[in-house]
Amino acid sequence: MRLHPSRRDSGVTFVRRDLSGASLRLKKAKVIRADHATTLSGKGITVSTVEHLLAALRVMGVDNVIVEMDGPEVPIMDGSAAPFVYLLKEAGLRRQAAARRYLAVRESMEIRIDGREIAIHPADRLRVSYTIDFPGTFIGRQTISRSLHRHVFAEEIAPARTFCFLQEVAALRSRGLALGGSLDNAIVVDEDGPMNRLRFPDEFVRHKVLDLIGDLALLGMPILGHVVAMKAGHSVHAHLVDALRQPGAAEVVVRSGLGEMVLQPAMAGASF
Ligand SMILES: [Zn+2]
Repeated sequence: MRLHPSRRDSGVTFVRRDLSGASLRLKKAKVIRADHATTLSGKGITVSTVEHLLAALRVMGVDNVIVEMDGPEVPIMDGSAAPFVYLLKEAGLRRQAAARRYLAVRESMEIRIDGREIAIHPADRLRVSYTIDFPGTFIGRQTISRSLHRHVFAEEIAPARTFCFLQEVAALRSRGLALGGSLDNAIVVDEDGPMNRLRFPDEFVRHKVLDLIGDLALLGMPILGHVVAMKAGHSVHAHLVDALRQPGAAEVVVRSGLGEMVLQPAMAGASF
């Protein structure tokens, strides 16, 4: 995967070099799968496992970027967004002559699906409160609540890795998923606990926040609101995105002095 600077107001564009450069703009993409990772589709192409990259681009402030890929899947790296954050910081950003638009939530909304819940409330910045509950396992119940500033994201959220239970791995593989999965790119939890060393005691819930930010990036602009999620996941996040896309659910606002951001031109060619 390579990231290139892109013109103002263009948003995120995926380019499949292996498919003669067929492209898909994030604004036009549909979520076609949201079980273990988020897969986007449109104009006859798919791109999968986009959420960790999209989260890093969003919170690090990259509005316009071309994501050039040589296959259908964004590299999983170490299962977190830390490698993307590191490289975006190394590349540096510059401001473009276009006002950045934000999506501001007007009224609280709440979605409940099979004991899972997600809500969003008006706020002047993005804040996430997330609770997960895996009773009878090492993970148990974990809660986190943070305002998602760039620094907080880079230090406290981006390094949190994806996770799964050992008994799930066989099931995933039988469905053709996680074929490249290993302890190098996921936390695997067995009856005794995690098989690898944790980066944070509550790394699991932190990763859910990362996934949520990536899934909200499908809105195409930063969101201002307080998201409260309880036992949610990609598919519940996708319901929230759908709800926010309904007319009247949120309004587009501009904040003075904040322009769109793009990678420094020197970034062109940096590979992941
Ligand atoms: Zn994830």
